[in-house]
Amino acid sequence: MNELDSEFIKGAIVGGGFGEAQNEYDADIILLNTCAVREMAERKALGKAGLLSQLKEKKPDLVLGICGCVAQQRKEQLFDGLPLLDIVCGTRQIAQLPEMIESVRKTGERQIRVEDLSSEKLDFALTKRNSLIKAFISIMRGCDNYCSYCIVPYVRGRERSRPPQEIIAEIGQLAQKGYKEITLLGQNVNSYGKRLEPECDLVELLERINAIRGIERIRFVTSHPKDISPALIGAIARLEKVCEHIHFPLQSGSDKVLRLMNRGYSLNDYMKLVDALRDAVPSIGLGTDIIVGFPGETEADFAETVEAMRRIEYDSAFIFKYSTREGTDAAKLPDDVPLEKKKERNKILLQLQKQISLRKNRASIGSYVEVLVEGPSKRNPYRMMGRTRQNKIAVFDGGQHLVGKILKMTVADATALTLFCQVAEETLSAPQNKTGQRQSPAYRASP
Ligand code: SF4
Repeated sequence: MNELDSEFIKGAIVGGGFGEAQNEYDADIILLNTCAVREMAERKALGKAGLLSQLKEKKPDLVLGICGCVAQQRKEQLFDGLPLLDIVCGTRQIAQLPEMIESVRKTGERQIRVEDLSSEKLDFALTKRNSLIKAFISIMRGCDNYCSYCIVPYVRGRERSRPPQEIIAEIGQLAQKGYKEITLLGQNVNSYGKRLEPECDLVELLERINAIRGIERIRFVTSHPKDISPALIGAIARLEKVCEHIHFPLQSGSDKVLRLMNRGYSLNDYMKLVDALRDAVPSIGLGTDIIVGFPGETEADFAETVEAMRRIEYDSAFIFKYSTREGTDAAKLPDDVPLEKKKERNKILLQLQKQISLRKNRASIGSYVEVLVEGPSKRNPYRMMGRTRQNKIAVFDGGQHLVGKILKMTVADATALTLFCQVAEETLSAPQNKTGQRQSPAYRASP
């Protein structure tokens, strides 16, 4: 979500007539986009702003701003801690950034816009995308769920869905430019369409996107378990472009903790979903988020999370240590799990997930996977990387000419995070269906 917001910010600035600098030392304007979801992310952003203030001391004309969730939450308090800061721009005022920058430059006065969480005017056409192959598409903003630990509803406002025709038009334009994969983004994409007139839900949206020629892969994040419907599971199974992957955070394996988190489901409800997803789409990759050390989490509660992860065998998991977010309901509970205990639990789950991922990835050695080639590998620029439909990283020998192609590959080796592959068929462009058969030529990628 923040990556996409950074692309909006870049688009708004460039659309406002500014150019792109090569690096922060070369820049006349520096805007930090920030995340408030965890204390660590917030601290990092403020630390970076402090370092940039030192740069501004040497270069007084530099315009320095903080955008995003930390701006929305801390508001003018940010000016107290960062006296050289010029701009505080909330989550729904991105479009006003060029005007704010001009005001700072003309008047030298600080600018703050954080007031209105109910309205937002974003020109999505301005988005300056970082990739020419894959694009994030915002389908909704905000969240109505109020999980007790989460700051998001307070800094991003209530849930608002974008009209489907706008989304379809944006994706249609991306398809014409050669984009192959789109990821629909929202805090809780499964509740897409609430309050839309005429009605349209996520399943209908997926069906409409599935029909757009040129787009080969569709993903969506994040899914809230309480809103995953049988119809959505059916759509993942039925629509050939919808990838066999779902990220649906469990957060805890303890029903007591889930209740305290206000998540709206029990472990049993969640397990039924896991079974339904695997029954409908046997090859589906499952991902989750887990929070350890939530207030009141006992050893027995934690053991239930360990057991749930063992049973489910996720393909990937993000493990977080709980940190109190001011203003949330959980902040009223005593943060009673010591930091050392949180670290220990975090480590246990990371190790467990590593073992599971390694076992599953190694079991795939010798099998075929379908990979959308993205570009050179970050770790080894002499090799190429892409992702499988299950969202696993695939690394292989190949050239730049393969970027944007969908190739059939065999898995030759694997670690917990990476599949090392060999190209089996350079000509494969059509997505396979959920049983591994090729799709109709209508869905072939451009050569
Ligand atoms: S669903 Fe819960 S965790 Fe996710 S953004 Fe909404 S309130 Fe936060």
